[in-house]
Amino acid sequence: MAKVWSSRVSTDSGQLFIDGIAASELAKEFGTPAFFIDEADFRDRSLAWKQALVASFGEKAGNVYYAAKAFISVEVAKWVKETSLGLDVCTGGELAVALKADFPTERIQVHGNNKSVSEIRRAIEVGVGVIVVDSLFEINRIATIAHTLGKTQKVLLRLTPGIEAHTHESIATAHEDVKFGFSIASGAAWQAVLEVRLHPEIDLRGFHSHIGSQILSTDAFGVAADRLIELMARFRDEFGTELAELDLGGGYGIAYLPSDEPLTPEEVLPSLFHAVKNACLLHTLEIPKVSIEPGRAIVGPTMFTLYEIGTVKKVVLEDGGDRNYISVDGGMSDNIRTSLYGAEYMGMIANREASHNLVLSRVVGKHCETGDIVIRDIYLSEDVTPGDLLAVPATGAYGRSMASNYNHVPRPPVVAVLNGKARVILRRESEADLLGLDM
Ligand SMILES: *Cc1c(COP(=O)(O)O)cnc(C)c1O
Repeated sequence: MAKVWSSRVSTDSGQLFIDGIAASELAKEFGTPAFFIDEADFRDRSLAWKQALVASFGEKAGNVYYAAKAFISVEVAKWVKETSLGLDVCTGGELAVALKADFPTERIQVHGNNKSVSEIRRAIEVGVGVIVVDSLFEINRIATIAHTLGKTQKVLLRLTPGIEAHTHESIATAHEDVKFGFSIASGAAWQAVLEVRLHPEIDLRGFHSHIGSQILSTDAFGVAADRLIELMARFRDEFGTELAELDLGGGYGIAYLPSDEPLTPEEVLPSLFHAVKNACLLHTLEIPKVSIEPGRAIVGPTMFTLYEIGTVKKVVLEDGGDRNYISVDGGMSDNIRTSLYGAEYMGMIANREASHNLVLSRVVGKHCETGDIVIRDIYLSEDVTPGDLLAVPATGAYGRSMASNYNHVPRPPVVAVLNGKARVILRRESEADLLGLDM
């Protein structure tokens, strides 16, 4: 199967299978729409990033922090724990999931540009490993809370190295107009370094950057590493000691379409090591411990969404051609990425051998928005009919995690498949859940 599917997905006579279970059976047992996650694939991908980090960096390998925001549930947090990765959380809610899974707190790293005082207090209380500092206000909050609790808190400073990278393009000019981090170019980063050093409750371990998402070339990570290491050299020059840690974030791209070339861990990490080593040589610095934070690259390819097709409508286009509007029983409430940032997906009829005569189609949801589109342009069989199942691959990241209840639609379940068995790890919302908040 094409790389857009997880490794245990196959097809036979038009029927899609995951780990030997047919899509029609899954739809019957769990309903639609639903997300199906290939558990072994999730674990394999987690380990692949970890092993590649160790292979490239040896004793200088830090943590692979799985970015919870891509998708987290208590069960998935347990898988992350068992594969001995770390976990990035960026809200109190994500931290609550981690704690519920008994995730080792010293392997949790806390992000966020607007952490509340109570979020910071809980993080320090439970003993999270690292807080990634994003503003000057936060430095004082962390110091005050740590002081009250009689603790010292390890931190990294999130820096904006003046690069923004998305998909194929990276802009290595001064891209500073963002809400995250301290800008290196403006001097804000250095000001944060000076501020942090005033507080004995704060243990500054090093610097962090996260330069974008769905990045398909490794160059930009190298530029970011250069700029962070240059500041580490300034730190050494001023204070006579070296910072020991560097976190280069996530953002590694995956294949959504068969034509996409994803970044593999075996490509990314040697090139990161090369960039870090060269920058350290240039400044005669010891190589720091390097951590990374893949989210999408771990969970994205492990899931697909299964929808049932409801209505099919032929619409005549201005140029005289036509397009099939194929409506599915979900939409922007389970996948906002297409309407939010023009994401592209492929899809296939998953329950039967459909006609090989393909026609221009658009897969749309059931919501009251013209922009409620799952797949903007796709060629699908001309004989697609109500009751058919449509599977959309690579929906593991930022699908269920960004899901909403728009139009009072219950959010879909996540079903884990392992060794030919399927089980619900996050149940479908019910009408009672939807009405449960009304007083
Ligand atoms: C979103 C995010 C990630 C993960 O990004 P992916 O594109 O899913 O790999 C990692 N680190 C930080 C700080 C983030 O905000």
